[in-house]
Amino acid sequence: MAMQISTGTSELRDITKMERIGAHSHIRGLGLDDRLEPREISQGLVGQVKARKAAGMILKMVQEGRIAGRAMLFAGPPSTGKTAIALGMAQSLGSDVPFTMIAASEVFSLSMSKTEALTQAFRRSIGVRIKEETELVEGEVVEIQIDRSLTGATKTGKLTIKTTDMETIYDLGTKMIDALTKEKVLAGDVIAIDKTSGKITKLGRSFARSRDYDAMGADTKFVQCPEGEIQKRKEVVHTVSLHEIDVINSRTQGFLALFAGDTGEIKPELRSQINTKVAEWREEGKAEIIPGVLFIDEVHMLDIECFSFLNRALENDLAPLVIMASNRGMARIRGTKFRSPHGLPMDLLDRVLIVSTKPYTESDIREIIQIRCQEEDVQLSPEASTVLTTMALQTTLRYALNLIACAQVVSRKRKSELVDVEDLRRSYTYFMDEKRSVQWLKEQQGSLIFEEIEGTSDDVM
Ligand code: ATP
Repeated sequence: MAMQISTGTSELRDITKMERIGAHSHIRGLGLDDRLEPREISQGLVGQVKARKAAGMILKMVQEGRIAGRAMLFAGPPSTGKTAIALGMAQSLGSDVPFTMIAASEVFSLSMSKTEALTQAFRRSIGVRIKEETELVEGEVVEIQIDRSLTGATKTGKLTIKTTDMETIYDLGTKMIDALTKEKVLAGDVIAIDKTSGKITKLGRSFARSRDYDAMGADTKFVQCPEGEIQKRKEVVHTVSLHEIDVINSRTQGFLALFAGDTGEIKPELRSQINTKVAEWREEGKAEIIPGVLFIDEVHMLDIECFSFLNRALENDLAPLVIMASNRGMARIRGTKFRSPHGLPMDLLDRVLIVSTKPYTESDIREIIQIRCQEEDVQLSPEASTVLTTMALQTTLRYALNLIACAQVVSRKRKSELVDVEDLRRSYTYFMDEKRSVQWLKEQQGSLIFEEIEGTSDDVM
């Protein structure tokens, strides 16, 4: 049974595309030069030069379509830019290369199985670029161009049609070419073609409208155009993801589910029908597959079943590039009793390109703070900038970046547009960083609901 598979429209993709604002909104790309060398500070990224260079090389492979079965892992301490660099890669990809970002824990949901959640993430990261021939509407203008090398003609015709039948249009077009070459029709001339007899009449420049030739209806004017051929149909290209095609064609979900975000489980039979259809479109030259990028943050939160799924999914020809990030050192592989680097099983680690990120230097941190202040439209006094850099070194970069907005609220309370040391100091007392929070918990021993459990820690960095 032939199945009608719909692909939605290009607008759909624009609406459902994820907006990335917030913590990483200052990132505009990887900041590489033409030779893929990282500039020290560029496109919102600072330092971390080795990791950015590695990311750039992988990006190049993506663009050359040499990524099937590949995966990379950003490994490094918290706040060292793993997510930031992955987003920089996303920004550098073409606008129709899909980029999907998930946190590993999102896979564990009550509404669908882990493998279904991962399958959806994979299919969201595979684009199908579809070439569609649009239907001609009656009365539309069809351009007829002439290959000068074949005919020696120097003119091209514009034909307003009153039929949508392609054969008729093609036929009329061919006849116009004949008329152009034989009758030496000049720019601005009008010709008429008798649909039944195919006879062509040159009507001259003053002719405004032919009542006799219904195939043409409106007048046909010739305009100058150097070369070309009959453009039988117009082509429109748009890109949708395999997941979007799944959802649009799912009877239980339907098009609107894409807007709600909750697409539920998709039946395997539907997926295989869609795969077959897309393969057909590829054969016929109507569609092109664009493997995109799937970013899985906190990948150590996946369990052994998910890892085995990943291993298998990466074998697929159409697999996207899978980028993972983890801030764990030796950690237990979830669902097993074993420990492994970054909490990933060895067979998966073996096929992964590992890129490490390192803690920032003081001057890198100062620059990152500066960039964030610009992004958040906050003015920091030079002393405050120094203090915040020191705070970042003693706590974490993320904590320091979070303090920027808090300190601005405090400074505005005293009606100042300039954030100063005192504003930072006060924000620092309002909001604890991780170390002080741990200290505070120790002091509160017994009075909180959860208590520390001795000796069961899974992870060692
Ligand atoms: P975690 O392991 O905790 O997930 P991470 O390594 O993914 O941390 P990010 O979230 O990328 O760290 O970085 C923390 C913050 O610092 C973000 O706001 C990020 O945009 C910013 N940042 C990190 N590295 C850079 C950099 N090299 N240039 C500019 N901004 C950066």
